[in-house]
Amino acid sequence: MKKLVVATGNPGKLQEMQEYLIDLPWQLELKPAAIDIEETGTTFIANARLKASEVAKAVGKWTIADDSGLAVDALDGAPGIYSARYGETDQERIDRLLRELGDTSNRQAKFVCAVAIANPDGEIVLETEGICPGEILTSPRGNGGFGYDPIFYVPSQQQTFAEMSALTKGKVSHRGVAFAQLMPELKELSRQT
Ligand code: IMP
Repeated sequence: MKKLVVATGNPGKLQEMQEYLIDLPWQLELKPAAIDIEETGTTFIANARLKASEVAKAVGKWTIADDSGLAVDALDGAPGIYSARYGETDQERIDRLLRELGDTSNRQAKFVCAVAIANPDGEIVLETEGICPGEILTSPRGNGGFGYDPIFYVPSQQQTFAEMSALTKGKVSHRGVAFAQLMPELKELSRQT
């Protein structure tokens, strides 16, 4: 079976990707802990490219990377690429976002997920960006998911990410959209490699 390194040290992320890539003949493996790539890009796609390319070069294997976060219109796209670093805990990140948004009437936001795949030489061969549009609620709703899920409401489903089943979130989320967009090219790539 072909090996595809996931440019993360997080087994949860590997597990999630495994589910999206279940139909493909690739065995996913975590990047070695000793390789740590600093996310110095200024966009989601730049960070995904950077991680895929640097890890691929370091290990000499095909590598996939993603970078995701929440961009809020009224905050000029914040927290954006800093979504994970916006506070110490999920609760603090949610509290800060709600505080900064205050009673602003424009609650439009989007989750973004950029995915990039690099060949063993570190060249990016595939990339995409999935988007899930939504609105920031004034208080949390639902117990599922993680991160900003309880305050992110998706009008098309009339639910927050935290209220959705894992199956529904997997389809409508930024990550679900990104992997669905990539699937035809991924299948082609797995035939060629
Ligand atoms: P990363 O792409 O793993 O670095 O994730 C960036 C950060 O964005 C996470 O730590 C979360 O705070 C946030 N985030 C990304 N995807 C989601 C999601 O599906 N739900 C809630 N928060 C998310």
